[in-house]
Amino acid sequence: MSLHPQHFAPAWLRPHDRGRQEGNARPRGRSHERPGHREAVMDKKELYREAKAAMVNAYAPYSNFTVGAALLTKSGRVFTGVNVENASFGATICAERTACVKAVSEGHKDFAAIAIASSRGGAPMCGICRQFLSEFAPDLKVITGDDEDHLIVTELTELLPDNFRL
Ligand SMILES: [Zn+2]
Repeated sequence: MSLHPQHFAPAWLRPHDRGRQEGNARPRGRSHERPGHREAVMDKKELYREAKAAMVNAYAPYSNFTVGAALLTKSGRVFTGVNVENASFGATICAERTACVKAVSEGHKDFAAIAIASSRGGAPMCGICRQFLSEFAPDLKVITGDDEDHLIVTELTELLPDNFRL
């Protein structure tokens, strides 16, 4: 696996500037905005937590491998997704693509990062999802790890250097 830890902190992933950038002291979790909306600046740990929380809705009766994903748009919205299996195995869809399809179907295509959590800890994104997400965000940051203190951040271009294009 080509994943390796990186310790950069892009503007949208800065953990400690939230209050200052927003210019107010609004407590976390008290957003009055629409469901699913989050501030534009989001810590990678927070995004990972969203992915982990989403896992509760995973539908994985065949593999028992549950996955949650949280896809952050550049405007600060978060779309979560889970893996949804099917008795016709080929119809199964991954958490990452579920999140992506939810976002695109609501008019959002500008993605900054995706966090992935699973019942086995960190989960590398499968090849189909790499291609699928590279359609919209080749420079996407991919965050995963066994827990929020051991997250690995990789660029999608590293995971899929030569994506298919028409
Ligand atoms: Zn996948």
